[in-house]
Amino acid sequence: LIGRAASLLIGVLLLGACVNDATRLRVSENSFLSSVDSDDPGLKRLAAFFDEAVFGRDDALKSSKVRSFDRVLSRWVVPIRVTVGGDVTDNAERKIRDRLEHFAGLTGTELIWQGRNAKRYNFKITLIDSSQIRAEASVDTICFARPTDSYGKIISAVVFLPSNDAEDFEDCIDHELMHAFGFDGHSHRLNSALSYMHKQSRLTAWDEIMLRTLYDSRLSAGLPRNDAWPIVWELLSQGVARQRTAGALPELGEEFWAVFPDEIPFSLGYDSLPDLPRLAMAHHIHDGRTVETRAVFATRTNSERAEIFHAEADDPVERWDSYRPRWRRVSKGGNLTDKPNELDDLPYRGLYDTIWNGSRHCLVFVREAEIPGRFFSGYYCRTGAISGSMRRKFLDALSTSPPEPAES
Ligand SMILES: [Zn+2]
Repeated sequence: LIGRAASLLIGVLLLGACVNDATRLRVSENSFLSSVDSDDPGLKRLAAFFDEAVFGRDDALKSSKVRSFDRVLSRWVVPIRVTVGGDVTDNAERKIRDRLEHFAGLTGTELIWQGRNAKRYNFKITLIDSSQIRAEASVDTICFARPTDSYGKIISAVVFLPSNDAEDFEDCIDHELMHAFGFDGHSHRLNSALSYMHKQSRLTAWDEIMLRTLYDSRLSAGLPRNDAWPIVWELLSQGVARQRTAGALPELGEEFWAVFPDEIPFSLGYDSLPDLPRLAMAHHIHDGRTVETRAVFATRTNSERAEIFHAEADDPVERWDSYRPRWRRVSKGGNLTDKPNELDDLPYRGLYDTIWNGSRHCLVFVREAEIPGRFFSGYYCRTGAISGSMRRKFLDALSTSPPEPAES
């Protein structure tokens, strides 16, 4: 799971060890999604979500160029024998059991509780300190799941959850259990525990429809996407209809669409940050128009980090105001001033403030882009101070031209 967007030290999802050669199949060229026809935006987004999370692979955060849709449906076909280990408290164990039982109920899988530190199991949940998780996975990771499957039949899974941060633990459980139950990828099409762009730590009704669908008896482990799709579409339609009748469907939420790092419409040529972002997302509205692109640039160790939005606005003040809530979230409550500094030492209109957030110095900014009506906004944080010349250099390094395509 990518850490709750609250923290500057953002965590990531991790999809096991699944880095294949890239099949650069863009979602927009995806035949199923373009052939899917429904007047129901909820159903369309749910179908796109299912497709991306079950059959697609997004690994934008690991900057690999992986996005393929050649996988088969994977799910458990044997009873799940669970054990827990590590720094597990009674409370944490209760919570884990409770969530696992909920998942088992939705999917119809048999759950056998083997107790703590059991010798015999095919599903192990280990609680360890986040620093160990980062060492095991990556600097961005706060928790992860690694299911192992054989031709789509999941035969085992390990899940690591943080033992030292109750909030992260809560945010992680359902997300990682979804991975461990067969949703190997991520999607950000709607409100879901599997999306790190939406603030959902618990399964939403959308997630529950997807879990029931994945484990429906009309589908089977190992089914290729082409064969599964017509059935999936029917099951999702029925699930949505049922939940809608029951009045149980929550908000769809915003729609985000992961894009390849070299598909963002701007570039940042700043020395100490990599040229390509670690995470790139487009924000869509119903007609498919991109209204905003955001990208996170960070060094491998996260010693420096920038999040940049490229979006429409009438003027810098409007953009500054619309960036406020986002900044409050990423800085865990940090407020932006009503009277930011004018950017008067660069040939662009803009506003900025430099803020110490308790662990880092951050430049928060709005800068007009070269295209009229478009603005950059975001933050750049580092452990050391940010001088005036550094600020100018950083803001000057933003440009409305896409980055060089990655070599394939
Ligand atoms: Zn994840």
